[in-house]
Amino acid sequence: MRIDVVTLFPNMFKGFLKESIVKRAQTKRLVTIKLHNLRDYTLDKHRKVDDRPFGGGPGMVLMVEPIVRAIEAIEKTIKPARRSAGGGRAHKILFSPAGRVFSQARAKALAKRENLILLCGHYEGFDERIKELIEFEELSIGKYVLSGGEIPAAVVIDSVIRLVPNVLGNPNSAVEESFSKGDKLDFPNYTRPRVYKGIAVPEVLLSGNHDEINKWRSLRANR
Ligand code: SAH
Repeated sequence: MRIDVVTLFPNMFKGFLKESIVKRAQTKRLVTIKLHNLRDYTLDKHRKVDDRPFGGGPGMVLMVEPIVRAIEAIEKTIKPARRSAGGGRAHKILFSPAGRVFSQARAKALAKRENLILLCGHYEGFDERIKELIEFEELSIGKYVLSGGEIPAAVVIDSVIRLVPNVLGNPNSAVEESFSKGDKLDFPNYTRPRVYKGIAVPEVLLSGNHDEINKWRSLRANR
């Protein structure tokens, strides 16, 4: 899988991409992540990416032209054999508080794609015409407002990558967890010591009786 991210702040991703499971997925060559600075797709000498909104009001709006240039340039570097049903070569996602709220079900579907392009907004968001020019899935990560789409992109990258086959050491990790079957949640876990500050681990987990353990776990899963 290849994920291209278009952002004004590529450095926001640097630490995140170099740690833990996301790092391992790249080291194992299961996932390639490419960061693109939107400013590199401007034509003027000031590298201008935003402008004041028509009609007035606070803040700045991301201009349509650098975004179109960025997406077109990225798609040219994706192999034509991988052209997806949506017309373009990659499945394209734009982050917006107005989008559909992201879920584990969406993460599962996105993990099956060969190519994703993630577009991070900033300031007041995008010139609306971008949605007429390019087919995007519009995603929100929740009903609150962030300064930019970088954290939402990190959320999507993390949740999608861990579902790509062979990324997790144990394939069952992604099967037996919260939201993997509808809204069912993971069961509570305990590890050593057996007693801490007078709180003991539930007896059944120490019993070695796997039928009883499974029964207890499924009972406690939807706490
Ligand atoms: N003026 C806009 C908010 C813009 S926030 C409004 O009121 O709706 C700036 C950018 O941050 C957005 O373009 C989007 O890319 C990102 N963003 C902010 N909150 C988000 C959320 N909950 N989910 C996904 N993206 C978000």
